[in-house]
Amino acid sequence: MKDRLNRQINYMRLSVTDRCNLNCFYCRPEDDHNFIPAEETLTYDEILRLVRLALELGINRFRLTGGEPLLRPDLAEIILALNASPGIKDLSLTTNGLLLEENLDRLWRAGLRRINISLDTLDKDKYAAITGSNSLDKVLRAIKLALAKGFNPVKINVVLLKGINEDIDDFINLAYLLPLHIRFIELMSFPHRDGYFVSANKLLKKLKKTGQLNLIKLPGSGPARYYRLPGMKGSLGFITPYSHHFCHNCNRLRISAQGELRTCLFADKTYDLKKLLRNGASDEAIKDFFTYVLSEKPLNWLQAGRIKRNESMRSIGG
Ligand code: SAM
Repeated sequence: MKDRLNRQINYMRLSVTDRCNLNCFYCRPEDDHNFIPAEETLTYDEILRLVRLALELGINRFRLTGGEPLLRPDLAEIILALNASPGIKDLSLTTNGLLLEENLDRLWRAGLRRINISLDTLDKDKYAAITGSNSLDKVLRAIKLALAKGFNPVKINVVLLKGINEDIDDFINLAYLLPLHIRFIELMSFPHRDGYFVSANKLLKKLKKTGQLNLIKLPGSGPARYYRLPGMKGSLGFITPYSHHFCHNCNRLRISAQGELRTCLFADKTYDLKKLLRNGASDEAIKDFFTYVLSEKPLNWLQAGRIKRNESMRSIGG
């Protein structure tokens, strides 16, 4: 499926819940304590129907996210069903890793092989300050277990935060020790998060000056650019929506846990898919809706405007 700018749209990020078991300060406005009522969350059957229709439209790569997707009791069943869907080319999961250790076997049996774990620091105190939780050790254990189990690639998402985790030496060392792909991501600006932005591109330029960075290609690398220093088992990735943007290659759509379709992470505008699903719309009508929505996908994040609502990333489905 192509949009009006001839971009191939083949990737969907599906949020399966807006609930989260961490409280990362940069992910949400301070007064954000409201979760959507359970009955507003897309059901297993609704998710599967949307995936089937998306596949018919040529969208064949999916990422499950949230909120924290592992809080959803039927996550492994969703993964199993998605993996069995004809035409699916890629399925991965983004998690904060808190519940990963005890769920790794189930996820593996369901056919999941790719996993992204969000972890912004390797320092216990900083981890607690960012997330409001003391579970760094648990997450680190889960990362090592995921590697041992054979998940590949295991990617680590690090959102860069000014004055908190700009020094990435610990992560660089980790990429020497373990075959992890560690991605440094620029903080997305929401009204409640101004002041913490760090340019990942600047970090990359600094590293490039060492003269030892080798650009590598990873399967399904999306907007990240990956590099390896000599002797490194893993790699360092940079995702720079602001300082080096990649909208001309954007291939994605997002669906929130309550069935809102979004064509750009930077856009306020959402489209109500759940209403269609719950009002008896035919498959054709839903597919036509996808096509119409795509015709409105912004050219780039500047055109999308800036997120003005004080929303949390967990409710958008980051
Ligand atoms: N709970 C899962 C997790 O932690 O990976 C999935 C949902 S979480 C919202 C997805 C990712 O969004 C995390 O890596 C988180 O750090 C990131 N995120 C949250 N707020 C962000 C922001 N303002 N800018 C960039 N990334 C953000």
